[in-house]
Amino acid sequence: MVNGFPPGDPSAVPTIEQLLRRYAEALTPWAEATAARMLADVNRRDEAAWMAQAQDMSRALRLEIRTAPTGATMQALMAEQVGLIKSIPLEAAERVHRLTIEGLEDSTRASEISKAIQASGDVAKSRADLIARTEVARTASTLTEARAMHVGSTHYIWHTSEDSDVRESHRRMDGKVVAWSDPPTIDKMTGHAGQFPNCRCWAEPIIPED
Ligand SMILES: [Zn+2]
Repeated sequence: MVNGFPPGDPSAVPTIEQLLRRYAEALTPWAEATAARMLADVNRRDEAAWMAQAQDMSRALRLEIRTAPTGATMQALMAEQVGLIKSIPLEAAERVHRLTIEGLEDSTRASEISKAIQASGDVAKSRADLIARTEVARTASTLTEARAMHVGSTHYIWHTSEDSDVRESHRRMDGKVVAWSDPPTIDKMTGHAGQFPNCRCWAEPIIPED
């Protein structure tokens, strides 16, 4: 959409912004369907993982897991994900606006800025990839948290994916016991295992014995 206009032309900016804003709105049904599909898929896997672990749990505990009230959690995740998907074109609009203003203020950087504007598609793509990667892990972690707390779990063990891509700050959390009520602050962000951007860590809930 952005590339259909001469880069850096301030007169095109209002039209680009309007198009991208309308596009964000038009995306809503698709965003809802996509988020719902991902949520259902991750939810199925989380439930299956619980059931596999539940072999040696009591019948009562298994029933508790099955009837955990995850509906509200799913709805909140869905609303957040639709918001994130729609933010991609809105951020692109803001970016074009900002870059065009920069070009007006500093004409010596015009060609550099024009290139940056033309890269809007790539920027949006990498943002979309980041959202997709982050949201799958965050959904899994949030559903595990909801089910764990429902069966009386107060703590979990933080696990990393144990490969060379794990960032140092998360590696330091590996094996640590964390309270669900007290998510740690790491790199200036607060959250549980799997709830950080690009994070593949996961939580192993500690389940009460009886
Ligand atoms: Zn992590």
